[in-house]
Amino acid sequence: MPPVIDKSKCVGCGTCASICPMRVFAFQKKKNPIPEVRFGEECWHCILCELECRQKAIKVRLPMPMELPYIDAAALHGK
Ligand code: SF4
Ligand code: SF4
Repeated sequence: MPPVIDKSKCVGCGTCASICPMRVFAFQKKKNPIPEVRFGEECWHCILCELECRQKAIKVRLPMPMELPYIDAAALHGK
């Protein structure tokens, strides 16, 4: 699933576009100050863009099989 940019938070620094190893983002500051998620299907969900965005403007949506199952520790101990 492609990452989502919150346009109300993004300041157009371009960090996400420059660090993404898969070049998911298209960014030409003169044309559009906010990066475009152009090749979302190429995202391999490394979450680098989300971690490096100082504005916390990116949310990487993990596909269901990649999400860790939540296990309540108390349930494991029968409490
Ligand atoms: S790193 Fe965050 S603030 Fe910078 S361009 Fe990308 S989404 Fe916008
Ligand atoms: S999660 Fe990784 S591969 Fe996907 S857009 Fe962000 S930096 Fe690129």
